[in-house]
Amino acid sequence: MAPVSTSAVLLRAHPYGETSRVLRFLTEDHGLLGVMAKGVRGEGGRGVTAVSTFASGVLTVYVKPQRELQTMKDFACTRLRGGLGASLLRFAGASTVAELVLAHAESDPNPTLFHAMEAALDRLEEASEAVAAAALAGVWGIVEALGFAPQLEACIRCGERLGEDEVGRFEAAAGGILCARCGEGSQSPRVGPIARSQLQALLEGRLDAPITFPRRHLALVSDFVAYHVASRPLRSLRFLGDVLPPDPEE
Ligand SMILES: [Zn+2]
Repeated sequence: MAPVSTSAVLLRAHPYGETSRVLRFLTEDHGLLGVMAKGVRGEGGRGVTAVSTFASGVLTVYVKPQRELQTMKDFACTRLRGGLGASLLRFAGASTVAELVLAHAESDPNPTLFHAMEAALDRLEEASEAVAAAALAGVWGIVEALGFAPQLEACIRCGERLGEDEVGRFEAAAGGILCARCGEGSQSPRVGPIARSQLQALLEGRLDAPITFPRRHLALVSDFVAYHVASRPLRSLRFLGDVLPPDPEE
């Protein structure tokens, strides 16, 4: 059997037995792949010894359909992303996008998702000031790549576009924004024009819109993920909530 090579990013690694590790990769050509990496722990291990979570590279692997764990031949790391481990907030953001992908993605190839994942990790590592925005943009980027982007411009009930100054409601369960009229009496979070443009920027992966209320934004994306993407609560979303800067008092 000939091995295949694909671009891949390492999402999770855990020890297996004395000397091996199970590595979970998101790959460009084969979706999520779990591989057994033998003899890679400790002294004298070769190949992936030094590779840590969130590293990107080229994975060469023997793929047998129907098998849960594939056999790894080699992982040639091209980008270590060591900077992600240097700050709790960057690490929490990266952990959240990884957990989201692990909870939802499948072994079908999804290059859009692969590129969203790489972009999210690069933004998190490279952002100088807007790390909270990079974390939020990462989560929204994965949600969108999985096919669940929220509707922000027109009301999800009546279809009318919201006015420039209109304050709507973010109705996570229904998949987007309610206009002021349709949202009357709703208990869902209020979203005015600034919050909507911030949401739009995050969905596009832009970090240029300052996020004044990061925890409110986290609540929006967490609700949305809970309704549409993950069937169980993500631990890393709570971790991200613990390390995000607090919202200013009103
Ligand atoms: Zn409406």
